[in-house]
Amino acid sequence: MGYKHVYGPVPSRRLGKSLGVSPIPSKTCNYSCVYCQLGRTDHMTNVRQDFYDPQGILNELTLCVKIKKAKKA
Ligand code: SF4
Repeated sequence: MGYKHVYGPVPSRRLGKSLGVSPIPSKTCNYSCVYCQLGRTDHMTNVRQDFYDPQGILNELTLCVKIKKAKKA
C-alpha cells in the first residue's frame, strides 16, 4: 500500500526502527540548500500553514501502524 505522508520503517539509532511522517509537500521549504537530498526547492515559503488535513495524516499513520502490527503477528 502506498502512503502519502508515512514512510519507513527507517533505521533509528535511538529506537531501532521508526516511522517517518511528512506533513508538508516535497520540495517545500524556507531554504534551498545546495546539498538537499530532495533537489532544488520549488516552493519556497516561510508562512505557517496546514498543507494537509492533520486528521487525514493521523488516520494514515494509525492505519499504517495497524497494518504493520498485523504483519508482525
Ligand atoms: S536540506 Fe532541503 S529540506 Fe533541509 S532545510 Fe535545506 S532545502 Fe530544506
